[in-house]
Amino acid sequence: MKKYMKYVIIGVAFVLVSLITMLIVIDYNRKLDVTLIGENNIKVNYNQKYQEQGIVVKNGNKEVKRNKYDVGVSNNVDTHTLGEYEVKYEIKYHNRKYILKRKVQVVDMEAPNLIINTDVIKRDYCTKENKTAVEYHAIDNYDADITDKVEVEEKDDEIIYKVKDSSGNESVKKIKLEYDNIPEDRFVLNGSEITYVELNREYQEPGAIYLDGCGNPKKGDIKVDGSVNTKKEGEYTITYTLNGKDKLKRKVIVYEKKYAPKTIYLTFDDGPGPYTQGILDTLDKYKVKATFFVTSQFPAYQAMIGEEHKRGHRVAVHTYSHNYSIVYSSVDAYFNDFNQMNEIIKNHTGSYSNLFRFPGGSSNTVSYRYSPGVVSAIAQTANNLGYVYFDWNLDSRDAEGFDSWSIYNNVVNGTDNCSACVVLMHDVKAPTAEALDSILAELTARGYTFATLDANSPTAHHRIQN
Ligand SMILES: [Zn+2]
Repeated sequence: MKKYMKYVIIGVAFVLVSLITMLIVIDYNRKLDVTLIGENNIKVNYNQKYQEQGIVVKNGNKEVKRNKYDVGVSNNVDTHTLGEYEVKYEIKYHNRKYILKRKVQVVDMEAPNLIINTDVIKRDYCTKENKTAVEYHAIDNYDADITDKVEVEEKDDEIIYKVKDSSGNESVKKIKLEYDNIPEDRFVLNGSEITYVELNREYQEPGAIYLDGCGNPKKGDIKVDGSVNTKKEGEYTITYTLNGKDKLKRKVIVYEKKYAPKTIYLTFDDGPGPYTQGILDTLDKYKVKATFFVTSQFPAYQAMIGEEHKRGHRVAVHTYSHNYSIVYSSVDAYFNDFNQMNEIIKNHTGSYSNLFRFPGGSSNTVSYRYSPGVVSAIAQTANNLGYVYFDWNLDSRDAEGFDSWSIYNNVVNGTDNCSACVVLMHDVKAPTAEALDSILAELTARGYTFATLDANSPTAHHRIQN
């Protein structure tokens, strides 16, 4: 029995030793559970402090005490420099080795600071001009001042400010747009509500217009009723209707203006020339007769003298050469030249003329240069010979280079100052030919009488000065 016990004890001891040894060996080679605390990949904001969170080592469910294993850490994370870093753990436990790596990315995750000095932008509705002075700045933690990168976009009732830093972080701010009092649409007459038109004058209805509050034309259905008869004195009404409801009325009063009776003696000097034909046609259009003081300065047009006569105008002498140095050299020279012209007149009209006009008019002083007293002497001789000379009391000033508009005004306004108006014009001037139609339209509309000159007409003499 005792012997038996001894074997039992030895056997149990052996089993226990083996078991303990086995347990030690198992534990020695046990695989631990080694993990990083936190994520394997971590993103850290630029310039932010980075705190490595470490690892946890477990044996099954039980955390292994720090003094049971060795650990080496390498960590070069620099949050002041953008980039990718690695934190590496090397854990040794008995004869086992574990390596853990964590990727740490230092990135700029902060959006720029977009600063705008206002929450609302007030704006003029019509001009679209801002009444609020807007100032903005964009400051980024990484790129510093990026105000120049700010994009401004307008959408409906707001202005959107956007800015992105170099890492793509974006800031957006929306500022409200406010329009102050939006002006109302307007439906208005062009021109005045009451318009006066002279009888028999042309009348152009200026119309009405539909505008938005900013003065831009707006679509609308505008209907016009009424008309003006300028041939009949009276009051006329033109009515404009917008979209069937809004109405505007214009009163047009056709009245007869009474002009004091006047006789107009149109005279054309220095031709015939290139514009004579046109002038004759315009005179015909208004059935107006005029007087032509002719020369031989443009021989190619000489036949027009016959045409002037044939159409009922008066042809009179203005000298052959129209050369001051010849005609004013002496009385004889004047009449030599004069007679030469009168021969041509006779050839084309069948008779001589006893009417004439001095080149430069009777008051000219240029003649003094060639012969003192010559104009007085010519006037005296002319009188003796039965010739009558004419000056003028209304100068169109067409010889001074005025344009047709000025010539028109000079003549039309000039008639206020004469009742028998001897009008000086030149049928060798283009602006004169241009202005004539309007001049005649106006003067005939006023009911003035037109006449040609004859020996008994007003001579409109100037004072002889040589
Ligand atoms: Zn002349």
